[in-house]
Amino acid sequence: MLLFDSHCHPQFPDYDQDRGETIKHTLKEGIFMICVGTDLETSKQAIELAEKYEGIWATVGLHPTDIHETYNLKLETWEELLKEDKVVAVGEVGLDYYRVKDNKSRAKQKEALNQFLELADKYRKPLIFHCRDAHKEMTNLLSEWCSIHDRDKNTNHLGVVHSFTGSMEEAKKYLELGLYLGFNGIITFTNQYNEIVKYAPLEKILLETDAPYLTPVPFRGKRNEPLYVKYVAEKIAELRGLSYNQVAEQTFENTKRLFKITNPK
Ligand SMILES: [Zn+2]
Repeated sequence: MLLFDSHCHPQFPDYDQDRGETIKHTLKEGIFMICVGTDLETSKQAIELAEKYEGIWATVGLHPTDIHETYNLKLETWEELLKEDKVVAVGEVGLDYYRVKDNKSRAKQKEALNQFLELADKYRKPLIFHCRDAHKEMTNLLSEWCSIHDRDKNTNHLGVVHSFTGSMEEAKKYLELGLYLGFNGIITFTNQYNEIVKYAPLEKILLETDAPYLTPVPFRGKRNEPLYVKYVAEKIAELRGLSYNQVAEQTFENTKRLFKITNPK
């Protein structure tokens, strides 16, 4: 049974000692990966991995916690990366008000997010959104953007809110906007999101690990890896009363659909 880890960072230094091994044993188990960039450097590294391995795709983006008061987004640089063959999305980008408290930096995050939305639009790519403690600002910004750009939620797959940790109400808002929700190991060690996992249409759920972070049960305390995405699939199956295969198959299709991956291998 094939699985898609729609959000992981195998390019991070955590895997410097065993990156090749980690990737190979994951692919051997039939698990494909979207390797997500968080700044210029890790975006380039994501592209390198995608070029090296079949079964890995890359995204390019700048994490909101890396955007500071004086940050100047060099659009041309990002555009060059977006033209690369195996780049399937812009991300991760978004708003993080949990770690960033000062208003100028927060305003800068919004400005950058708007710029990345324009870039994604220009290159017809979906986005991977990171959002922490800023769901209200995020949904406002996105609905405004969608209405200005005349985006129809039924036909236009804007992107995914990765590592979703908002409320039920916020989940509903995102779903109304046509967004997907990404769930990871968090749902294996807290019950807090059970109702949302059950409520969201299965066609709108993506599996992810966010490896090397957020290691699921039964490996809490150890480094996470993309291979463990199967525990996320198991948990969703358990919560929704479905078989593991049903969850694996549907979320695999969802990932292909959102990132326009027609012939994964
Ligand atoms: Zn991430």
